[in-house]
Amino acid sequence: MADSRTTERYDVGVVGAGLAGLTAARELTEAGVDVVVLEARDRVGGRTAADSLPTGDAIDRGAEWIDTEHERVLELVEEFDLELCEQYDAGVDRVAVAGELFDHENRFRALPEESASELQAALERIESLRRDVPLESPHEAPDAERWDATTLESWKREAMATEAAREAFDAFVRAEFTVEPSGISLLYFLAAVDAGGGLEIPAESTSVTQKYRLADSTQQLSEGLAAGLGGAVRLSEPVRRIDRRGDDVTLETDDETYAVSDAIVAIPPPLIDRIDHEPSLPARRRGLVQRMPMGAVIKCFAAYEEPFWREDGYSGSVLAADGAVTEVADGTLPDGDRGLLVAFVAGADALEWSDRPAAERRERVLEELGRYLGPRATDPLEYADEAWSKTRWSTGGYNAAMTPGTLTTCGDALREPVGGVRWAGSETALEWRGFMEGAIHSGERVANEILENRGARGN
Ligand SMILES: Cc1cc2nc3c(=O)[nH]c(=O)nc-3n(C[C@H](O)[C@H](O)[C@H](O)COP(=O)(O)OP(=O)(O)OC[C@H]3O[C@@H](n4cnc5c(N)ncnc54)[C@H](O)[C@@H]3O)c2cc1C
Repeated sequence: MADSRTTERYDVGVVGAGLAGLTAARELTEAGVDVVVLEARDRVGGRTAADSLPTGDAIDRGAEWIDTEHERVLELVEEFDLELCEQYDAGVDRVAVAGELFDHENRFRALPEESASELQAALERIESLRRDVPLESPHEAPDAERWDATTLESWKREAMATEAAREAFDAFVRAEFTVEPSGISLLYFLAAVDAGGGLEIPAESTSVTQKYRLADSTQQLSEGLAAGLGGAVRLSEPVRRIDRRGDDVTLETDDETYAVSDAIVAIPPPLIDRIDHEPSLPARRRGLVQRMPMGAVIKCFAAYEEPFWREDGYSGSVLAADGAVTEVADGTLPDGDRGLLVAFVAGADALEWSDRPAAERRERVLEELGRYLGPRATDPLEYADEAWSKTRWSTGGYNAAMTPGTLTTCGDALREPVGGVRWAGSETALEWRGFMEGAIHSGERVANEILENRGARGN
């Protein structure tokens, strides 16, 4: 049969319609550049995903919380007239470590005194060490090789002696990075903390930084960006092959070929190696994405008649190292009639529980919620969850992280263009890496690089 494939020509082709790809496309379009965005899914937004429970309650299956300092996200919220809600923050947090439950208005201070001081000192040490790590080139830090050869697990064992402090640290790492401390190096952790805006160490305060959520979903940010791009966004068009041999870069989907002067690849790093590259990627670029697996997380939702835990004086915020659930948050909307708990299973537990039958997972998560917030938590109106390791076109979450020894051997390939191909995505951000804000920053960075380059080329 004759090949019915046609070739369309654009200045720039963007692979992936998450926040990074869409931001790059918008910046370029506004500068008069002709752009096409190719998205594998039948929707935009990638790791942001709107849904609702049968109760009608809106849920965010992916990214949900917005920091007060996430300026770009907040600008889009305003531009698209989305409703912002403050995270419920009153009441007592619970920390489950070393087989016991500890309560405090601030979970970082919930542990017994000796463990709390150890944990505090360790977090302060990280804050001080990360300042020695150059943001753009962490592999050039003074002790880079030694730190990259040290797992965060070994560092933790040196830094803390009490079981409660060690377990709270594990839970914190799983909750924030969805990896085990044994799976990342001290250097990568410091670099990631640095690029993620540092640690919140509330030594004095009793409340964590105020956070926001949207009344509907963070996916609306991408929908707003895509609406402004009109027909430039092509859904259900996974890019299978990138050919850099000619003057143009060609992007091949199942049915079409797109010839572009510049390409932006804005997809989770491990998926880059699933695309057929011709010629093959430079060894260090390929080595990087092969050594940068996605974290593992299951995000779980349980809806109740009311947020009953508030009556009992609890904030709904739980940090746990004892069971499968690592973290719990109150996900109730301000005007919601019902209560909503959002729970995360992260790291090794997420890998294990993703493969268990859904009913078993539900039972286990609810049982643990019952332990932390009382028996009413075991009997929700509705329950739903998403095991991100099994989600196509993401294959994990929240983000990809480098394994020990990777940053010092392949780390400088992270943002280095290959021929006419540039790399964006939350993982490449210099600021707020791993967050929606970082994805937006990365899109702006590549768009600016291309505009500068086109200016220099006289386009
Ligand atoms: C469960 C979960 C909770 C999170 N919570 C938060 C939070 O509270 N706050 C926060 O700020 N961040 C959070 N994050 C992280 C945040 O979602 C991501 O860092 C950010 O959305 C990544 O955006 P991106 O554009 O870089 O990548 P993505 O959103 O992954 O977009 C990449 C796009 O590329 C597409 N794609 C992949 N392969 C191909 C291909 N071959 N061809 C074409 N298209 C392709 C994908 O379908 C996807 O749409 C969370 C993530 C998860 C999973």
